[in-house]
Amino acid sequence: REVLNGDAVVVWIERAAAVIVENEKYLTELDAAIGDSDHGANMARGFSAVRGKLAGQPREDVGAILKTVGMTLLSTVGGASGPLYGTLFLEAAKIAAGKAELDRTAIQQSLAAGLAGIQKRGKAEPLDKTMVDALGPAIQAFEGAAGVTLAEALARAAEAARQGAEATIPLVARKGRASYLGERSAGHQDPGATSMWLLVRSLAEAAAE
Ligand code: ADP
Ligand code: MG
Ligand code: MG
Repeated sequence: REVLNGDAVVVWIERAAAVIVENEKYLTELDAAIGDSDHGANMARGFSAVRGKLAGQPREDVGAILKTVGMTLLSTVGGASGPLYGTLFLEAAKIAAGKAELDRTAIQQSLAAGLAGIQKRGKAEPLDKTMVDALGPAIQAFEGAAGVTLAEALARAAEAARQGAEATIPLVARKGRASYLGERSAGHQDPGATSMWLLVRSLAEAAAE
C-alpha cells in the first residue's frame, strides 16, 4: 500500500500494543539501569488501554483515531513518557484531522509534527539520550527514502530508529530521570528510545501488510 487508511493505522497501533506488552520486561530492565524501573509497565498499561479504546472506534477519520490514541496515552501512561507519547499522537492527529487516509507527505508531516511536539514539551535536543534519538533519525531516513515503496521507506525509518536507540548507549543523559545519574547514565540504552523504535517498527510492519 502507498497510503495508510484508518484500518492500517489501527493495525499499526495493535501491533505496537502487542510488541510493547511482549517487551514490557525488557523496557523495564532498561529503565532499571538508569531510571526507576517503570517504563515497561507504563507503556504496557497505556497501550493496553489504547487497544481497548480502538475496538469501538470508527475507522473513517485517521485524525480521530490518532487523537484517541494520544488522549488515552496521556491519561494512562504517566511519568515523563506519557505526556510525550501523548503529544506525539495528538500533534500527528492535527495533521491527519478529517483525512480518510495518509499519503506519504501526510505521514512525513505527521511524524515531523509529533517530533516537534515532543521537543517543544520536553526540551530534548538530539543526543540528549531520549526517545528523540530514535524518532529523529527515523524521520530523516523516511524523508531520504525516495524512489522506494512506502513499506520500504518505513522499514528504513525503523532501521534508523533501531540504530538511533542503540547509539544512545554511550551517551550521557541530559533530560529526564537518567540525567540525575550524570556520567553514570553512559553505557546503557535509553528505554524511551527503545520503545520508540518498537513503535516505528510496528508502523513499518503495518504498511507492509
Ligand atoms: P519516568 O522517567 O517518569 O519514570 P518513563 O520511565 O516511562 O518515565 O520514561 C522514561 C523515558 O522518557 C526516557 O527513557 C526518555 O526516553 C524519555 N524522556 C524523559 N524525559 C524526556 C524529555 N524531556 N524529552 C524526551 N524524552 C524524554
Ligand atoms: Mg521510568
Ligand atoms: Mg516513573
